[in-house]
Amino acid sequence: MNIVIFGAPGSGKGTQSDKLIAEYGLYHISTGELLREHIARGTHLGEVADSYISRGLLIPDELMIDVLSDLFKQHPEHIASGVIFDGFPRTIAQAEALAEMLKEHGTEVHAVVGLDVDEDELIRRMLDRGKQSGRSDDKLDTIRKRLDVYHKQTAPLKEYYLNKGCFHNIDGNRPIDDIFSSIRTELAPHKDK
Ligand code: ADP
Repeated sequence: MNIVIFGAPGSGKGTQSDKLIAEYGLYHISTGELLREHIARGTHLGEVADSYISRGLLIPDELMIDVLSDLFKQHPEHIASGVIFDGFPRTIAQAEALAEMLKEHGTEVHAVVGLDVDEDELIRRMLDRGKQSGRSDDKLDTIRKRLDVYHKQTAPLKEYYLNKGCFHNIDGNRPIDDIFSSIRTELAPHKDK
């Protein structure tokens, strides 16, 4: 089973991904975490990524797609075990590239879990997270920019996946365990894929 966890920044994708991994044993690919690791290690990719992330912008599609494609080439076994994609795709071009890459491995995106959270709550969570995480992008100005980018570049993916018939909308304003319980219910029909 391959799942995309989808939602605005601060919608709880990482938190719910951890629970999904524990429950279904999927391999977690978080592009945000992957890029932050590169930044911490000071790699060339990290330097380029930092120049976008600190401004609240997306990394260009071409680069992001290359990063994913390299990961799949180096570790085809991850795809075989089933993946939870967290933070990817973030644009229609990325979604199309993902479909193509998975097809080459004889598989597809089985379900997209969309976490729907009110804007006030998103801002509150990210400001709160910024106090502990020290993430350069969890500051009010950058948060506003990220939300703007989300609405313009990422939100259209909801329509894209609705048209494919695999989008599951989840009310993400509730407590963590209630959200997870709804996700499990939605994913039950896909469990044996
Ligand atoms: P959040 O969901 O809180 O925005 P992430 O950890 O998923 O945080 O991502 C942090 C930043 O990393 C994004 O704002 C963006 O700049 C960059 N990023 C992550 N994934 C992608 C992607 N698929 N395409 C382009 N940029 C990305």
